Amino acid sequence: MLSEVSFRTVRILTVLVLASSAAASTVTLRGRLAPAVEAVPLRLVTTEGDSVELAPERALELTMRDPQLAERTWEVRGHRRDDGRFYVEKIFTVKDGELHRVTYYCEICHITTHEPGRCMCCQGDTDLREIKGE
Ligand SMILES: [Zn+2]
Repeated sequence: MLSEVSFRTVRILTVLVLASSAAASTVTLRGRLAPAVEAVPLRLVTTEGDSVELAPERALELTMRDPQLAERTWEVRGHRRDDGRFYVEKIFTVKDGELHRVTYYCEICHITTHEPGRCMCCQGDTDLREIKGE
């Protein structure tokens, strides 16, 4: 019992330390994708009017290019690098001023994935689900 409690405390402290060190260097941008998103590279036009070249991982890029999400405002978190590109670590859609995580769900297999496309299990269609919260 005691060891269980102390284990949890250590875990919580570790999470807090990691969260605070990440927060110190993480940059948050909000905006819409530049038109012609099929063009490479992906660009975000921020609410301040800056055009920023994004460098997301494959799954994040596929999600941001999902036509179902073409009208969304995005919040992206990551880091600006010396080459001027913005390395994306997390993405959220902004709906009614609130952040949503983008997921894709297979009704048949009850599997949630983080990129658009076929279900990894049954190869059927997946449904876009934007879940409120971070
Ligand atoms: Zn499936």
